[in-house]
Amino acid sequence: MRILLVHPECQSSLIGFRLAAMPEPLALEMVAACVPDHDVRILDMRVDGNLLGTLEDFAPDVVGVTALTTEVYAAQDVLQMVKQFSPEIITVIGGMHATMMPEDFYLPYVDIITLGEAELVFPHLIDALESGRRLRDVANIIWQDGDGYFHRNRAGSMKMDMSNLPFPRRDLVEEHRDEYFWLFSKPDTAMATGRGCPFRCNFCSVWQFYKGITRQMPAERVVEEIKTIDTDHITFMDDNFLMNYKRETAIAEMIKAEGIKKRYGMECRTDSIVRHPDLVEKWAEIGLSSVLLGLEGISDEDLKSVNKGTTARVNDEAVRIMHDNGVIVWGAFIVDPMWDRDDFKRLKDYVERMQITQTQFTVLTPLPGTKLYEQRKAELLTNDYTCFDALHAVTRTRLPREEFYQLYANLYKQRSLEPYYHLVKSGKMTLEDCKRGKRMLDVMSRWELYLEKDPVLGHTRDKVKPSTKQLKLLPTQVQAGK
Ligand code: SF4
Repeated sequence: MRILLVHPECQSSLIGFRLAAMPEPLALEMVAACVPDHDVRILDMRVDGNLLGTLEDFAPDVVGVTALTTEVYAAQDVLQMVKQFSPEIITVIGGMHATMMPEDFYLPYVDIITLGEAELVFPHLIDALESGRRLRDVANIIWQDGDGYFHRNRAGSMKMDMSNLPFPRRDLVEEHRDEYFWLFSKPDTAMATGRGCPFRCNFCSVWQFYKGITRQMPAERVVEEIKTIDTDHITFMDDNFLMNYKRETAIAEMIKAEGIKKRYGMECRTDSIVRHPDLVEKWAEIGLSSVLLGLEGISDEDLKSVNKGTTARVNDEAVRIMHDNGVIVWGAFIVDPMWDRDDFKRLKDYVERMQITQTQFTVLTPLPGTKLYEQRKAELLTNDYTCFDALHAVTRTRLPREEFYQLYANLYKQRSLEPYYHLVKSGKMTLEDCKRGKRMLDVMSRWELYLEKDPVLGHTRDKVKPSTKQLKLLPTQVQAGK
């Protein structure tokens, strides 16, 4: 079969995180690798928006789309365009949002919704479609019958042997390699060596999506994959890469023994770092360059309120360990819409005092699929998913909203560029990457940019009535298990 996998483009994400990182569509590359007997293409619409041209040229039998919450409408538009182009094409939606909120895709132009990890579902689905077998026998999908009814099939196994996962089909997006980046490193290659998380932060959907199960690839498998990668920089997309001391030590030792010379970025919890500073040392020695550190807050109360399971003292210690090892800290903090002026000042002072050169400030957002959503959904000011980008307050703010965004954007204003000068001088960052980082900070510190998508200030014409997009959320006809 000819299968087109599409990563949609969501324009509204352009203020913020897109400027900080744009990793390759790794999830789609993994799905592509799981159907090796088929002709697969990936269309990454963030870098190539030519959907109709691709449909004409490739003439797919199946189009699969993935979407995070902010990308739901963009994904719906893609699926609709595909059906308009040819009703014969089978449309499939999967990913984290579709798993958590499948009802958002009970739409006439959606044929199948895959639930959970696509590698466990997609090969069976494609087999069934190719051989004409009944869809009702494929586990972990919801499918639409000829009368417009959606049927939820039985749940299937969640067991995945990560050691047997094929290498992602990076070749399918290789022409865009130079456009993928992670913070200061461009071009970049993304790797995922583990899935799930044993922690239970209330704002995070990772542990819910993976049903609390955590799995990792063996060290040998990780190093084998690293050896296939050409770029100088690799980013580990695992939610907490340094959580398994034994495995991560083995990976570092194998990289050293093999003489692999690369730079690495990763995401970590602070307690993993403090528990094993020697592991950070080992990784710094083999090229660890930057770490996205989930600091989240600066006081024990902040951390307790999001169920982070760490303390402010542990955070401070982790930042110190990173600095001692010459690793760039990309500090991730959560801004609560109920903050007052002093809270913003405290955070700004902390970031400066701790010399955290790179920062990510996300507004506390009850994302569908999280505990926070269950607790706070009655307080939401909007159902418009494009506002759920963690750059906007989707709940009430304590301060007037304009002032909230002024103080929020002000967090990105850096008083001194000296730390960047040192990073360039010491060869940890190129001048080009430094300029890109500066551009990012300049854009993110313009408070007026946040107003357009604010659910109160930005939707003045449409505050009460649901938008056309919201109307689309209404299911057609739903009947589970028929
Ligand atoms: S935020 Fe990080 S540590 Fe917390 S549950 Fe999510 S993945 Fe785990």
